Amino acid sequence: MTNEDFMNALKQAGMTLTDAQLAQFEQYYELLVTTNASVNLTAITEKSEVYLKHFYDSLTVAFYEKNLQDGEHSLIDIGTGAGFPAIPLKIAFPNLKITLVDALQKRVKFLQTVVDELKLSDVTIVHGRAEDIGQNPTFREQFDYATARAVARTSVLAEYTLPFVHIGGEFLVMKGAAAQQELADGQKALQTLGGKLRDEYAFELPNGDSRFIQIVDKVTKTPKKYPRQAGTPSKKPIA
Ligand code: SAM
Repeated sequence: MTNEDFMNALKQAGMTLTDAQLAQFEQYYELLVTTNASVNLTAITEKSEVYLKHFYDSLTVAFYEKNLQDGEHSLIDIGTGAGFPAIPLKIAFPNLKITLVDALQKRVKFLQTVVDELKLSDVTIVHGRAEDIGQNPTFREQFDYATARAVARTSVLAEYTLPFVHIGGEFLVMKGAAAQQELADGQKALQTLGGKLRDEYAFELPNGDSRFIQIVDKVTKTPKKYPRQAGTPSKKPIA
């Protein structure tokens, strides 16, 4: 996907980026590939692939949860890695207040560089595991939205994300072809943690790859015992 294809595909979805925002994406790309030479951030480095599979793919969630496009909503991105999907969302929608969580220090350091170089405001970066941070009252049940892309299967992700979302907020599930099976396997976890599926959207990336966005409402509080100890959600998913 060339920069022009990127702009046009976003336009088709009703999003127009300014030259300044396009320059921020370009700067982000440069930082990503230069840092990736010494720090393992991503397997995808070819420019058109980064624009499609990281930048555009990250923004698709806002095609279906349009509220992300307006207002000063808070969003926490668990296992954000090099910043996906939260940094592209922040560049496109500067009013979002984002919190980035990752367990790996070297990725957290990269995120700080991106925030400084792109002069992004209202960004909080937290180094740690979702299971530990989810029990911290500063973060627990504080967010309008939680995202997590390519981190774990839905039954596990629910335990990483739903504790952060307040009642009335949403866990935005971003998945590939296995989405519906993962959702079926994760039903018990969603229900236990206070989530309820509201909508599901199936679509394709411009290269034909299959994608799903599932919107899970936070309808009841997450019981105090969740998230369990670090490592337990992935070893023993709620089932
Ligand atoms: N979300 C990014 C993306 O879509 O490109 C990164 C995906 S990467 C495959 C998974 C990331 O999740 C890694 O950076 C890893 O350190 C982080 N991670 C995995 N389990 C985690 C946990 N329990 N708490 C916090 N971060 C976690």
